[in-house]
Amino acid sequence: MPEAPSDPDLLRRFLAETEAPCPACGYSLRALATDRCPECSAIIRLAVESPSVRLGAWVLAQVFLAMALGFDTVVLAIVTIAMFIEGPSTPAEWAQALTMFGGFAGLAGASGFMLWRVYRARRGWSRAEDRRRRWWAAGVFVATFIVHAAFGAILTRVL
Ligand SMILES: [Zn+2]
Repeated sequence: MPEAPSDPDLLRRFLAETEAPCPACGYSLRALATDRCPECSAIIRLAVESPSVRLGAWVLAQVFLAMALGFDTVVLAIVTIAMFIEGPSTPAEWAQALTMFGGFAGLAGASGFMLWRVYRARRGWSRAEDRRRRWWAAGVFVATFIVHAAFGAILTRVL
């Protein structure tokens, strides 16, 4: 069995017959003799790549949910502290305070649960097409927004 050629050899052989732009500047690397782009001096390497490791949409979906969880947790903390400092006195005030407390506790729980679900679903996201992943991330954003806006609308009626 012949010895596997070194990386620079593979790169040279690949570019001898393949038209490829420099990933840094776009200059054509066809027939490149070294491992550097003649235009911008970027180091050029031959690599095996997979689009499945591009998980930007998966990360973005988690950022949306983490933002929602952070918001819900901060509001929940403020509501809880306010209840202790300035305890509700009338049954109507208690109802308002408990609605806020229960609502934001529920939202924080839902955001945290979804964050955990998306985190655990990394494999499914990595197997999906780029386009589908972007739709999923957009779906997570819209769903998170709608659930929070709906709760906000309910609160303005109750309070
Ligand atoms: Zn270049």
